[in-house]
Amino acid sequence: MVARKHEIMQNIIIIGGGIGGLCTALALRRKGFGVHVYETVSEIKAVGAGIILASNAMNVLARLGLAEQAQGIGMTLERLELTDAAGKALFRVASKAELMRDYGSPIVAALRARLYETLLNALPPDIVVTNKHFERYDMSDTGVTAHFADGTHAQGDILIGADGIRSAVRRQMLPDIGLRYSGQTSYRGVAHIAMRGTLAQAAREAWGSQMRVGLVPVGFGQTYWFTSEPAAAGGSDADKASAKRRLLAWASEFAEPTAEVIANTPEASLIRTDMYDLPLLPTWHSRRVVLLGDAAHATTPNLGQGGCQAIEDAFVIAEVLHKHGATDLHTAFAEYERIRKPKAEMIVARSRQFGALVHMRYGWQRALRNGVLRLMPAALGQWQNRAVLSLNF
Ligand SMILES: Cc1cc2nc3c(=O)[nH]c(=O)nc-3n(C[C@H](O)[C@H](O)[C@H](O)COP(=O)(O)OP(=O)(O)OC[C@H]3O[C@@H](n4cnc5c(N)ncnc54)[C@H](O)[C@@H]3O)c2cc1C
Repeated sequence: MVARKHEIMQNIIIIGGGIGGLCTALALRRKGFGVHVYETVSEIKAVGAGIILASNAMNVLARLGLAEQAQGIGMTLERLELTDAAGKALFRVASKAELMRDYGSPIVAALRARLYETLLNALPPDIVVTNKHFERYDMSDTGVTAHFADGTHAQGDILIGADGIRSAVRRQMLPDIGLRYSGQTSYRGVAHIAMRGTLAQAAREAWGSQMRVGLVPVGFGQTYWFTSEPAAAGGSDADKASAKRRLLAWASEFAEPTAEVIANTPEASLIRTDMYDLPLLPTWHSRRVVLLGDAAHATTPNLGQGGCQAIEDAFVIAEVLHKHGATDLHTAFAEYERIRKPKAEMIVARSRQFGALVHMRYGWQRALRNGVLRLMPAALGQWQNRAVLSLNF
């Protein structure tokens, strides 16, 4: 993308200090923009145990000057494996050598807290304002005002809604859009043991009769794990002891070290998340307001790409605003959508289909699926990877 010089806005409002909001602040500041991030919580800390940063996100972080820091936060994975419950391979997903050859960056798995720490350290502390719960915006021809629950407001040139899947910015812009429940819920946790042997630097996702389990080494003697299973929405995670007992009972179907990893997880750290996504939005922008990350294209986590896509958005929004400037916001936002919307929406759709494939109801369906997966040529996997891991900007 060729950058042209225009007025560089000095007052950009970002709502939400998650992965998308923080990366956007970083990307905009690198282009000379002035930004403030308004976040509802009193202290920004990671929610959600671990995260896998795929090669596409690692490449963008490298462009933001964070290549070394991002590799240092966790474990660079040598391999991703997809297996049945017994640990027998279903499909070879990718190796580090292939990813380096094809995309120039590996996949890194880390605790979310370490990613947040890295992003916050790369920003001056005074630009992130906590305890600011965004309620609504007003727009004029010259600016936008964000109103907060404490009665205060902030004025800016534009407002970027990076406030996650239940975005209040989106609710005002597109009030008729609701979330879609996937029919699946997930548990996540961090075990205080390191993976050993062939799994020491490899992530394994195993598909059982009802449950899927992923085991992911994140370095520093810890292992992040996640599950998914068909369930009605709205279940409570209040009774973590019984949730852990139930997970351990399910884990007996899976090859070790699954049960060992879950057993070594402090109950308090278990998180249950019902998995929702968003339908396709008619637009991501309206005059001076634009959506980004989960606020625009929340996806089920089956492909592990929601955060990676928010990181891609962050880079592109800074590029288009730098290219077109404050006088041509419509063109800038339209270009952002043209570059980002097709890929983000492809990921939402594929991730949803992937969830259905994982959680097939009948044993004969799962046996057939496993047989087909084992016969699938590696080239098909590489083709699938290319659509997700390549950058189109
Ligand atoms: C089980 C699970 C596993 C996942 N695994 C992966 C993975 O391995 N890799 C990956 O890339 N992605 C993964 N994801 C997806 C990823 O977590 C999200 O896509 C990512 O966090 C989106 O970033 P965001 O900044 O858009 O939103 P969020 O991270 O949700 O951040 C939004 C921020 O806005 C704040 N906020 C909300 N409302 C307001 C308000 N009214 N006023 C002010 N602030 C507000 C919130 O407090 C929050 O800090 C996973 C998701 C789940 C559920």
